[in-house]
Amino acid sequence: MKKEYYINKNQQSNGDYEVHESSCRFLPSSENRIYLGSFYTCQEAVNEAKRLFPAQRNNINGCYYCSNACHTS
Ligand SMILES: [Zn+2]
Repeated sequence: MKKEYYINKNQQSNGDYEVHESSCRFLPSSENRIYLGSFYTCQEAVNEAKRLFPAQRNNINGCYYCSNACHTS
């Protein structure tokens, strides 16, 4: 089943922009997030975020809690 993914508009303290599932308890509020689309895996969502925001691609990372498989830093 696909899940909806969002990216946080605000950077974490380490400079990362985190990608979250819509069900994550750390999902940013609606004014602080951008909808990425619905995907089967967090990796697809991260890839889409990097395509949409190429200038930030080195700072896009999966959320530790909802997208741990894509959390690298
Ligand atoms: Zn999350």
